[in-house]
Amino acid sequence: MPTFGLGTWKMSDAEAETSVRTALEMGYRLIDTATLYGNEKSVGKAVRESGIPREEIFVTTKLWPTDFFSPQAAFNGSLSKLGLDYIDLYLVHWPIPLMPKSVWQQLEKIYASKKVRAIGISNYDVGDIKKLLQYASVVPAVNQIKFSAFDFEKEILEFCNDKHIVVEAYSPLTRGTHLGDATVAALAKKYNKTPAQVMLRWCLQHGTVIIPKSSHSERIKENAAVFDFEISSEDMKALDELS
Ligand code: NDP
Repeated sequence: MPTFGLGTWKMSDAEAETSVRTALEMGYRLIDTATLYGNEKSVGKAVRESGIPREEIFVTTKLWPTDFFSPQAAFNGSLSKLGLDYIDLYLVHWPIPLMPKSVWQQLEKIYASKKVRAIGISNYDVGDIKKLLQYASVVPAVNQIKFSAFDFEKEILEFCNDKHIVVEAYSPLTRGTHLGDATVAALAKKYNKTPAQVMLRWCLQHGTVIIPKSSHSERIKENAAVFDFEISSEDMKALDELS
């Protein structure tokens, strides 16, 4: 699984098609969408028309709770909208209390059919995962959760690491709301990077995958330029303390 990718929440069809195309041209190889986002068609189109071999692109989509009684049909719908032969990662988008065991069991069946390369979860806390592991035959490969210096819960990160579940950070830029924070700004200045790059680098140094969303090509480029610097352990600690 690539360590960084493009999020597409709130992107219209037109925005998603252009942004995914731009991101792929700039070297992104992971694209995150969901049935809920309503843009699987345009995401799939951009992926298919990119000219990049399919196996080099990692596509994630998600099962929304309203489809919990028909996961196979929902999965087939996503596959058809994306226009792909297989999906790389299929996630249960959100757990609900009393979620039937059959949801995960259906995902395991889809996984066995090889139409998806990995199955995982999203928005699961430690208790939700413990419940799932009681009956799961396939351990979720990924838990996609809200994760940033302003939404930092060590417990879930350590628990997932312990179970070998990859943590994928969504809203790693806090949807833009904390990019003006004084600590982040000071560190951006210190490392000669932008606040967004400092926030993303912090996630990477905690071992998570990142999927920042942007519909602007200059920001898509900026968000990928996070592999040429390292935040010191002292500065990591200062960022850890922001939440
Ligand atoms: P992000 O933290 O990625 O922030 C996106 C916002 O930040 C947009 O408004 C964007 O604006 C702005 N932005 C992006 N780059 C920069 C930059 N370099 N400088 C300044 N502003 C910037 O939020 P998301 O909530 O979108 O999370 C990322 C992805 O995670 C989603 O798109 C989705 O794929 C996934 N997600 C999953 C959820 C789940 O339940 N599993 C829930 C929420 C998100 P602009 O586009 O105008 O550049």
